[in-house]
Amino acid sequence: MEIYCGDLIPDFIGKEVTLRGWARYIRDHGGKVFVDLADRKGISQVVFEGDISETAKSLGREYVIMVKGLVRQRESETFDSSNPTGTLEVLAKSLEIISRSETPPFEITEEKEKFLASEDLRLKYRYLDLRRKEMIENIEFRDKITKLARKFFWDNDFLELETPTLIKDTYETGARPFLVPSRTKKGTFYSLPQSPQIYKQLIMVAGLDRYFQVARAFRDEDQREDRQPEFTQLDFEVSFKDEEYIRGLVETLVKKIFSDIIREEMEFPFPKLDYKEAIERYGSDKPDLRYDYEIKDITDIIAKTDYNIVKRVIENKGSVKGINFKANYGKDSKVDKDFMLSMVDKAKTEGLKGLTWLFIEGGEIHSIPGSIADSINKNGKEIISKFNAEDGDIIIFAADLDEQLLKEVLGKLRKIIGDKIGKFKQKFSFVWIVDFPLFEVDRVNGKLKPAHNPFTAPTIDDMKLLDNEPEKVRGRQFDLVLNGNEVGGGAIRINNSELQLKILEMIGIENKEAMETFGFLIESLKYGAPEDAGFAVGLDRFVAVLKEKQNIRDFILFPKTRSFDSPIDGSPTKIDSKRLLDDYKLDIAV
Ligand code: ASP
Repeated sequence: MEIYCGDLIPDFIGKEVTLRGWARYIRDHGGKVFVDLADRKGISQVVFEGDISETAKSLGREYVIMVKGLVRQRESETFDSSNPTGTLEVLAKSLEIISRSETPPFEITEEKEKFLASEDLRLKYRYLDLRRKEMIENIEFRDKITKLARKFFWDNDFLELETPTLIKDTYETGARPFLVPSRTKKGTFYSLPQSPQIYKQLIMVAGLDRYFQVARAFRDEDQREDRQPEFTQLDFEVSFKDEEYIRGLVETLVKKIFSDIIREEMEFPFPKLDYKEAIERYGSDKPDLRYDYEIKDITDIIAKTDYNIVKRVIENKGSVKGINFKANYGKDSKVDKDFMLSMVDKAKTEGLKGLTWLFIEGGEIHSIPGSIADSINKNGKEIISKFNAEDGDIIIFAADLDEQLLKEVLGKLRKIIGDKIGKFKQKFSFVWIVDFPLFEVDRVNGKLKPAHNPFTAPTIDDMKLLDNEPEKVRGRQFDLVLNGNEVGGGAIRINNSELQLKILEMIGIENKEAMETFGFLIESLKYGAPEDAGFAVGLDRFVAVLKEKQNIRDFILFPKTRSFDSPIDGSPTKIDSKRLLDDYKLDIAV
């Protein structure tokens, strides 16, 4: 009987099995050789005794072998409780070496202390890294979620359709696209999709009113810790439905994921928070609501103190805002002085002039150095009561002329400090962020740009503001946030060509350019376009957060590094300039 190494169970005792796998650990005990044989389901111990042990002695780590042998129970004192197959072993009768292995560049082990490989090395030898149980579990978890989602959409009568990968260079999300030169039409380019956005709208115009796809998207964004230039979206679109319907559908999907896979209680429907309130209270449009920690304005209180540097900002019409954290400071806190000093640095790198932090002890505010607390202590009680602070709490606050920047930086610190303290009201906290502004106003040039993408319909009530107060117009856009991560976003689309042209014009794309770039979408809207709504879940991040992990790269088979390199194959690589010239007529000095 052929079985996986991880599938050995007591039922097989006395039976002959065939195992194929990787020789993970080899122990030579004189006359006996023990091999821990691994495959994606687990590890079984194989024992080689007698003549066959001589051949087994020649095995090296990660050799691929086939073993036939008899299953038996181990001596009870050698049971391995850490391994589900740990009471059993296979007494080998035959051994075939399928393939030899060089000594791997790092030890493939589940023991955290022994696993020292850097992420770069792991990514270069990803096929070895993926042999580790932790990685297998991540990949299997992702597979489970994807399968469940596919089934969910099939069951709800969605068509699984594929949009193209080589597409026109358009403005889909505001990031830069990756470009692909055409060989047959010299000097022209395809672009890789930043999302299937326009195509899913075209699918609705076609009347295929329920679409979904597990789609790859490509965005040449500024490099950030948690971004990948290519990532996967669970993408869908429906005709004749509104935002309530889409949110309901997503919640039903999440409900299923929680009942079938995560097996945790979850409250439905998810709370809704409007964008303005999210920024006001949490400094972020993706607030982590596993903890409360709200931003409070303390301009009036600080104005009465002797804290002169901050008071100067207030005199120049700046404001002072802060957050109180239940940090248990000075007791068993994960937050200490050094960490708080690193937060001061972080506030500065994020654009604030400084950050003050106080701790509460004996019902009074304190600071390091104490002079700061001295300068505000006469209003200390007011501050304590404003924040409802108690002993062990840490209050951070800062002043700035730019109130938006102030809230955003406090929002970022809130997330870092909140995560560090690690006291969560619940394991998973979903929230819908709604009523986004349709446009963002560029801080530097004051121009309008779409807050998400230029295809989102304005809120009906706000249509009247489009001409004179466009910055006040809300978009029919909604994001799903989980534990402070944006895990999905969707919108009701514009289904009227004139309105679409107008919105593009408002963001600086004149009609001529609009027609050149988006003509194929705008044309389609003239031929009977249904009301249409859609959503996309960022699958990589969604699965990572559901597994309570930070690093989305651990859920992608062959991810790029933070600097968007691909260690597994060394890409991006230089291309011979002669080839570029001959094949693509691209005259680029490389
Ligand atoms: N295309 C959007 C995005 O990638 C999602 C959507 O609105 O359907 O963010």
